[in-house]
Amino acid sequence: MTPAWTVHKFGGTSLADAYRYRAAAEIVLSQRSGEPVAVVVSAMSGVTNALIESVNLAAAQHASYLEKLQALQDRHLETIAGLQLQNAQTLTETLVADFNAIKEVLRGVWITKLASERIIEFVSGHGELWSSQLLHAYLESQGQRSAWLDARKVLVVEPQTNSVAVDWQISKQKLQAHQPETDLLVITGYIASTRDGVATTLKRNGSDLSASIFAALLGAPSVTIWTDVDGVFSADPRRVPDAVVIPELSYQEAAELAYFGAKVIHPNTMSPAIANDITVWIKNTFRPEARGTRISASSPKDVPIKGFAAVEDMVLINVEGTGMIGIPGVAHKLFGALRAVDVSVVMISQASSEHSICFAVPLTHAELAKQTVEETFAVEIQRGEIQTVDLTAGCCIIAMVGDGMIETLGIAGKFFSALGKAGISVRAIAQGSSERNISAVIEQHEATKALRAIHSAFYLSNQTLSIGVIGTGLIGGTLLDQLRTRIEELKRHRGIDLRVRGITNSRQMILADRHLTLEGWRDELSASSRKADLEDFINHVNAAHLPHAVLIDATASAELTEHYESWLAKGINIITPNKKSNAGPLSAYRRLRETARQHQRYFLYETNVGAGLPIIQTLRGLVETGDQIIKIEGVLSGTLSYIFNSLDGGNTFSEVVHEAHSLGLTEPDPREDLSGMDVARKLIILAREMGLEVEMDAVQVESLVGEDSRIAALLNSARERSEVIRYVGTIDSNGNLSAGMRSYPLDHPFARLTGSDNIVSFQTARYNSQPMIVRGPGAGPEVTAAGVFADLLRLASFLGAHQ
Ligand code: ADP
Ligand code: ASP
Ligand code: MG
Repeated sequence: MTPAWTVHKFGGTSLADAYRYRAAAEIVLSQRSGEPVAVVVSAMSGVTNALIESVNLAAAQHASYLEKLQALQDRHLETIAGLQLQNAQTLTETLVADFNAIKEVLRGVWITKLASERIIEFVSGHGELWSSQLLHAYLESQGQRSAWLDARKVLVVEPQTNSVAVDWQISKQKLQAHQPETDLLVITGYIASTRDGVATTLKRNGSDLSASIFAALLGAPSVTIWTDVDGVFSADPRRVPDAVVIPELSYQEAAELAYFGAKVIHPNTMSPAIANDITVWIKNTFRPEARGTRISASSPKDVPIKGFAAVEDMVLINVEGTGMIGIPGVAHKLFGALRAVDVSVVMISQASSEHSICFAVPLTHAELAKQTVEETFAVEIQRGEIQTVDLTAGCCIIAMVGDGMIETLGIAGKFFSALGKAGISVRAIAQGSSERNISAVIEQHEATKALRAIHSAFYLSNQTLSIGVIGTGLIGGTLLDQLRTRIEELKRHRGIDLRVRGITNSRQMILADRHLTLEGWRDELSASSRKADLEDFINHVNAAHLPHAVLIDATASAELTEHYESWLAKGINIITPNKKSNAGPLSAYRRLRETARQHQRYFLYETNVGAGLPIIQTLRGLVETGDQIIKIEGVLSGTLSYIFNSLDGGNTFSEVVHEAHSLGLTEPDPREDLSGMDVARKLIILAREMGLEVEMDAVQVESLVGEDSRIAALLNSARERSEVIRYVGTIDSNGNLSAGMRSYPLDHPFARLTGSDNIVSFQTARYNSQPMIVRGPGAGPEVTAAGVFADLLRLASFLGAHQ
């Protein structure tokens, strides 16, 4: 027995030029292992459109139709030249003759101003005739025994409005009569003949259907549709950057996705495949090694939702009236009438009352549909039983498809809540009778936003964070560098998907739809022509289609903190080392927390005190578990710690300050540290964390600004007592807050600090005779940025827990 045929189909996107033809031929030959192969081809990309346009131009008496044809002819002849065919001459002559014939036909169209259906069908099918002859000639030039088959000789169909009915019996007979003696057959896609022998087509994008029809006629067990993407994606990859290839689909799922707009395959392709149990593969000519999508009788049910699609240019028609209640057959009469005039009703909405029937039709059928409804129900309208026939243009249907939908709870809820969260209003809803799709009519301009929102609800981990970093100084910059090295790993092993989608400083910003690569963010930012605009930045980061947004304020700006409340109210989480907000007026402090609670968002600021050291967390743990704080005492400023730890008698106070500044250990303005304000802010933050309702003026602060000689004297006398000076912040049991210089004996834990260490001692009811001590480096970009990073991971796990 001879082995069964294998069928491959190449779409126009795979046949754009000579180079792509070579690639297609290589695929056909390399995939082959002894069995006969049929190759169904589309027109080169854009050719069908151009042919149809040229007919319309001629009918409108635009002379440019000739230029259009000339450009098409040039493009084909160039491709012939590029392929270096043996029989280039003959093929060129054939093509030129075809173009001349088309010109003659279009001359007639010009004169009569009439572009009949038959002429459009005849002309538009030429793209496939040329394209397939090119491939055939190229295969022959490569020494292959290729044969070419004009599908119009074999395939007989009965045209219908949006599809065709294949006459299988006659087509089979004709194939037997015309099938060339060969095992490499190149067949024209898209075109066919009517029973009367008139040239027709399988309608737009019909080459996919040609492929499955020929697979059925040839008895092939499988057909591979080669295109320009890796398979059927969970949504159109041009609209949803996060879309992924679906490895397996059932015929029904593929048909529904295609019906609702997944252009990658024509919906009718599936019916010959179902009837003949043909496996359909969708693969990428640009990446033949990628596995692709397999479409067969069943698909894994453990993934209840496979994909999403959108049909654009729809009109919603709403027929409403009290006279419709309880009258059987209204729907039957309505849809019967629409069918009779070939209006394709894409979706019927289940009205909650019997008052109205709502359905969607393509914009091109809108007027005819409305008119048909009005005529059909003329009597009812006259009697006032039907009050309105409304037409809403600019609509789009979005659909969610999956065989496992019925068996899984909460699917519809998730779909609609994702739309709701993205602020998209739904005009009509339908659940397919097959119960493998749910569709909704929305406004067309919101289609992409809607697709992204529902896609992310089903496909993205709840730990996907859209991140915006404000401030690219030492902390922001270091954080970005740290993120760069960890992002991949966190995604792979922890499912935490951190997407830095925006970086801004006070001058410029960079934004990315999916995420910035972070490889060369510094150069990219400084080269960016986009001026910093906080509002645009925030709106971009707060993308409706991603589950969560977070802004990282890595500045020390008081002005920025004024926006925090509005960010939280917009649904954005905030992480910051910036102390200005928490140390501001108590009323604002309270309001911020209230807003965060109301909107269920997080405001995290562990690095406000002690940089990366777990000080706020520790204190919160003590307070929340019911411990009683007796006293908090600590060296809270990494800067002042460094300065006092470095004063060894051989250097002056101002020299050491200068050194600390150049090491990046001070606030951008070192006076903030020397004034004691930085410590005072930290005390306020800790005190408020304890529940004390304090304002900044409650802190007694000793400033070091301009106090060089006093400090020198204090240091000297301390040294004489064998003691050291430390700048310490204290909250005592009476709620008194103070910050200032204290003297400590050398064996005291505070005396033994080095570098920019912080130390905090918590004396509590539970940790009374032995206070709990947290100690470690408390300043510097590395540890502070790492502390912010840790907050980010904490946020991801909080959000993951919400799922
Ligand atoms: P061909 O010329 O190969 O027939 P088409 O342009 O008809 O190619 O179809 C492929 C295109 O379909 C892709 O480039 C992609 O942009 C689009 N598309 C729309 N929805 C989907 C989807 N769900 N999966 C894959 N591709 C899709
Ligand atoms: N060339 C035809 C079209 O553009 C058929 C196809 O590509 O599938 O509609
Ligand atoms: Mg196509």
